[in-house]
Amino acid sequence: MIKTDVCIVGSGPAGASTSLMLSKLKIKHYIVDKATFPRDKTCGDGLILHAYKSLRILGLFDAFVANPKFIHSNKINLHIKNNLKLQFKEKEDRNRVISYGKRIDFDYFLVNELSKEYATCEFGSGVKSLEETSEGIIVTLKNGKQILAKIVVGADGIQSTVSKKLTGFIPDKKKMSTFISAYFNNVKMPLKNEAEIRLHYNKMPLFFYVFPLPNNEVNVTLGGNTQKIIDNNINLKDEIEAFIKNHPKVAPKFMDAKQISVWRGWGIPYHFSKQKVCGNRFFLVGDAAGLANSFYKEGVGTGMMSGIICAKKIATCLNEKNFSDAFMSSYKKELDKEFGKLLRFSEFALKVAKFKAIFAGVVKISKNIVEKRAFSIIRKRSY
Ligand SMILES: Cc1cc2nc3c(=O)[nH]c(=O)nc-3n(C[C@H](O)[C@H](O)[C@H](O)COP(=O)(O)OP(=O)(O)OC[C@H]3O[C@@H](n4cnc5c(N)ncnc54)[C@H](O)[C@@H]3O)c2cc1C
Repeated sequence: MIKTDVCIVGSGPAGASTSLMLSKLKIKHYIVDKATFPRDKTCGDGLILHAYKSLRILGLFDAFVANPKFIHSNKINLHIKNNLKLQFKEKEDRNRVISYGKRIDFDYFLVNELSKEYATCEFGSGVKSLEETSEGIIVTLKNGKQILAKIVVGADGIQSTVSKKLTGFIPDKKKMSTFISAYFNNVKMPLKNEAEIRLHYNKMPLFFYVFPLPNNEVNVTLGGNTQKIIDNNINLKDEIEAFIKNHPKVAPKFMDAKQISVWRGWGIPYHFSKQKVCGNRFFLVGDAAGLANSFYKEGVGTGMMSGIICAKKIATCLNEKNFSDAFMSSYKKELDKEFGKLLRFSEFALKVAKFKAIFAGVVKISKNIVEKRAFSIIRKRSY
């Protein structure tokens, strides 16, 4: 049996960032993933706020900006209706408020940076079981390998095996979104890498995104609250295809477009406040901890930042040789300090957005304040 201080399960943005930060802190560890990299992940491919902050902390920001697989924009327009939009932008002298890159490339970019000295990668075999013992947690992989770790980090996404086995948590459909996504090329996009983001109502609010990518490609997504989609019997594929075909501002942009991948669907969890994210000898990060933003769906950045916070907490646990539930619990408070306000505000905004006319009225009245406040949030959370 392999013995280690830390075993991270999952090497998406949250797991890879945990590993990168542990390596900065000179802590040897294992990181396992059922996939081998490069691997794809259904996503909108947008990177904002905490992704920038995390890349800076990890010392990868300059390499990220220099990489031609990622493109950048200094403006986000959210169209509430055809004649009302919210604009979020950085100062003209700064180049980016949002970046775009396919997850197959971004996640591989992070995995390639994992430390040869401190991180041992076990990719290509998923976790089969976890067993709690007095010495640590035994992680058994499907290929039969066993790893005994003093601490296990669950970075294994929305359907986290670690969370299910160690906390018994089952994701709540009321606290998650379902989105579908596909790649297109040849869509007539605005200049300067600007995205197309629209709030679309059909019995419930749905969010429509077209995010630009290199090589004249775009990522097109549509989705909303999972439980409401089920209750309203909405077929997201039919909905998005009709929207692209019929919306007066969107349809002309897709006139010559070609779909180059199939529609794929996946969940985005935001049940952080309702969920146990640490306990005896374990931490959860990223989607496994329900840390995505309910309104604008940032899950990559929050995942990365939670990994950084988690790695720092692991260093304290190892120093103090304390792996108890009580000692670990300050981790949740630290996550709440970093994300809590923004996550709660976003959930509130989503609740108001259910009422189309009221939401549009609120946006109209508060547009200036929201845009100014967003500017300070961007500054505080990204740099
Ligand atoms: C359609 C859609 C659009 C989105 N758009 C955006 C966006 O534009 N911007 C944004 O920031 N976020 C977006 N999100 C959310 C974002 O994709 C997630 O929040 C993010 O991927 C979370 O990262 P993670 O590392 O926690 O989990 P993941 O990226 O899901 O990584 C989990 C890893 O764990 C591995 N794993 C799973 N189970 C096991 C196991 N049993 N054993 C070993 N390994 C395992 C997987 O192979 C995977 O590599 C979107 C999500 C969807 C579905």
